[in-house]
Amino acid sequence: MKEADIRPLDLFNKFIELSISDIESFFSDKTAFVEVSCPACDSNDSEEGLIKYGFRYLICTNCDSLYCSPRPNILQLESFYQTSKSVEFWASHFYHKTVKARRKLMFQPRAQLALKISEQNHDNSSNLVLVDVGSGYGMLLDEAQATGRFTRVIGIEPNKDFASMCIRRGFEIINKSAEDLQPNDVNAHVATCFEVLEHVYNPCKFLASIRNGLGIGGRLLLTTLTVTGFDIQILWENSKSLTPPHHLNIMSVDGIRRLMQRGGYRVLKIETPGKLDLDIVLNAYQQNEGIERSRFVNILMSKDNGQTNEDFQRFLQKHLLSSHVRVVAERVD
Ligand SMILES: [Zn+2]
Repeated sequence: MKEADIRPLDLFNKFIELSISDIESFFSDKTAFVEVSCPACDSNDSEEGLIKYGFRYLICTNCDSLYCSPRPNILQLESFYQTSKSVEFWASHFYHKTVKARRKLMFQPRAQLALKISEQNHDNSSNLVLVDVGSGYGMLLDEAQATGRFTRVIGIEPNKDFASMCIRRGFEIINKSAEDLQPNDVNAHVATCFEVLEHVYNPCKFLASIRNGLGIGGRLLLTTLTVTGFDIQILWENSKSLTPPHHLNIMSVDGIRRLMQRGGYRVLKIETPGKLDLDIVLNAYQQNEGIERSRFVNILMSKDNGQTNEDFQRFLQKHLLSSHVRVVAERVD
């Protein structure tokens, strides 16, 4: 897989342009922003991280997570996600153009993994229930359905347009935020949540709410970004993953572990299976000559040898050093 397969560079740049203009229309007045503690470990000990498009990011000195503070309040974020141009562009153009590649490279393997995880947790594998949090277009719902192994496949999606789109295709959708889930609403064997955690106002509360959607012993399969990953560390303020107000929580692997515990889970597995770190750095260097280059990455590039890069990416995966992190956790009772 290459970055361009799932994030064509011209579309990604357009998305970032729109995000910057959205910031002017939605967040030029920051008086209602809220100072927060570390979203991963709740510590207030921090140092300055960076400023990006006028948003301040702090580094937690307790767990090394990077997080936006002060950040827009919940109502501001809700309004942003319902009506902003960058979100609309992501949903219409961006996602649409990459749907085939995303389905094959991302969502089919995710559905298979979710199936495996739910089977491990359930004696009677003829009656499995999956809930996908932030189901969007319903790609995970499609692929989970296609396995033919889930009795119920449910999406939780606050956005009305996405929700009605999936309802028209016959899916069971709860059109509200995960934070509004009540215990016993769903009782799923497995909850999935892909690339949502970095966006939410309060990750601990968000995870505790997903826990409400799981039955006893239910499991969560989650992916997010981590600041301890290679491309983010190398590119830092030039990293497109640090795009406010979309990405507010870019936690360390250690921070994510602590967060899962605080949210009421036992971590069964945490890994960084990302495939794109080096590709992302090389693309950023090619696109923006103004970026100060890492000497080490220059050496990697000069090798001009696919095998070196492939081995290097495997090394990142193996040692929890890729920026794409995946967690499997179990609800604690
Ligand atoms: Zn922390």
